[in-house]
Amino acid sequence: MKRRELFGSLASAFKPKQEALIRPSYFKDESAFDKECLQCDGKCATVCEEHIIKIGEDKIPYLVFSESGCTYCDECAIACELGVLHVDFKSNINAKFEIDVVKCMSWHNTMCFSCKDPCLDDAIIFDGVFRPEIDMNKCTSCGFCVKVCPADAITVEVKQYEQSSD
Ligand code: SF4
Ligand code: SF4
Ligand code: SF4
Repeated sequence: MKRRELFGSLASAFKPKQEALIRPSYFKDESAFDKECLQCDGKCATVCEEHIIKIGEDKIPYLVFSESGCTYCDECAIACELGVLHVDFKSNINAKFEIDVVKCMSWHNTMCFSCKDPCLDDAIIFDGVFRPEIDMNKCTSCGFCVKVCPADAITVEVKQYEQSSD
């Protein structure tokens, strides 16, 4: 975490926009959020040490990566007494991270490795020393790269499931 904290502090003044509602890991049935969370006082958000779980007006938890990321520590799942989140359903967060090549400085010939260093999964691949891209086969959707980017160039959106065609 020290590595992440170091690079996080360099760009902590920037707060990237995130519009999509990303749910925490650890759920099996997304409809359970609608059914159960109304009866809860947001325990998962209370225990998250990274403070990335927010509770919406609909009382359903969502993640925000503007200040930190998910360590997959299990605490939110352990705290959920209504079975919406459970450690048995641990999986990567359902979010797709991408580098916006228009905003990214490295795509415009300015050397920058801010996102590479906090990515403990080595999912950010550079072409030599420029033009980074995120390898979603390696990315665990932890979100730690978002806040460190000084150009606000890392976008996050809900992953869409592929529709089957007839
Ligand atoms: S696994 Fe841990 S860090 Fe991730 S959202 Fe849950 S409580 Fe927060
Ligand atoms: S602890 Fe469980 S029931 Fe409560 S808000 Fe979080 S996901 Fe919903
Ligand atoms: S979200 Fe993906 S690319 Fe970003 S730090 Fe986490 S694993 Fe690396």
